[in-house]
Amino acid sequence: MTRPTRARIHLDNLRHNAAIAAGLAPASRLMAVVKADGYGHGAESVAAALDDRVAAFAVASLEEAVRLRDRGIRRPILLLEGVFEASEVAEAAAIGAWIMLTCEEQLRWLQEAALTQTVTCWLKVDTGMHRLGVTPQRAPAFLQALRETPNAGPDTVLCTHFSRADELGQGETREQLACFLALCDGHDCLRSAANSPAVLAWPETHLDWIRPGYMLYGDSPFKESLPQAAALKPVMTLESKVIGVRDIAAGDAVGYGATWRAERASRIATVTAGYGDGYPRTAGNGTPVLVNGQRVPLVGRVSMDMLTVDVTDVAAVHVGDPVTLWGEGLPVGEVARHASTIGYELVTRMPARVPREAI
Ligand code: PLP
Repeated sequence: MTRPTRARIHLDNLRHNAAIAAGLAPASRLMAVVKADGYGHGAESVAAALDDRVAAFAVASLEEAVRLRDRGIRRPILLLEGVFEASEVAEAAAIGAWIMLTCEEQLRWLQEAALTQTVTCWLKVDTGMHRLGVTPQRAPAFLQALRETPNAGPDTVLCTHFSRADELGQGETREQLACFLALCDGHDCLRSAANSPAVLAWPETHLDWIRPGYMLYGDSPFKESLPQAAALKPVMTLESKVIGVRDIAAGDAVGYGATWRAERASRIATVTAGYGDGYPRTAGNGTPVLVNGQRVPLVGRVSMDMLTVDVTDVAAVHVGDPVTLWGEGLPVGEVARHASTIGYELVTRMPARVPREAI
């Protein structure tokens, strides 16, 4: 018998979400971000499902791009952090990957590479995130140097990345955009800025290419509910089963460390999913879990292979009953908030132990 804990991957929902992104930015080209194994969903199946819906893909490394090419993905693939050493330029060129240039070293590696074909480059400008990218002051000369680099293709794209687009009431996104548009002015280049929150809530950032990741997987990056995000459908549903049911007395504690104690006679169901299955150990008492489709609270500490829920107030629960940890009916972002993290982290760190079942 295998453990019943599995992540169902609803590829139809993925395509549906891509259509929502495309519909929100009808004048932009859509680049689907599928790095980190498609945010934990399985990059190859995600890319194959989106291949006819998007103009390009983005990944974090050459290795991730090679895996997609090996799976037969022929669309352009952008390396979001560029190359990590000089030798990767030729390897990227050989598989037709696009390279993000973020620093002087990468420019030099490109200039010095012995290539038989040119490489399409995206130039990243640091407009306020202060993580990667050239300064707005350096960008025009960098762009000029690229134009004089025979290894660089003719269609350089200017891009930037927002630090706070998932917060509605702040001014930084507008400031970053204004800085970006000012430096793009006068350069005949395509422009890209929008990640998922910007696609959803900042239409003025859509420009020529949008680059959503998280929203494609069916959850909103906002803690507020946004009408534009209401129709997103979860792609990953983490499912398990009840493997034990017991009655405990008022005053009894549950789990390691006795972090929850029953205030009344209670019925506790044990679910075979724990932090070894990617469920966050930091999820606190009261984190919602669906048992037989009914919301019940997590109680006690999450173990490696099990967690416990209080089913006192719901209809009879039995061994073998179905459990949803997140996904259909329970947004992963909601679970993440109870664990002091974000849905991005939960789906991305799903371990190999949990089978992905694409449907
Ligand atoms: N663009 C860049 C440069 C990124 O690093 C990322 C993800 O971190 C994205 C786009 C996609 O972001 P999101 O998943 O919020 O849509």
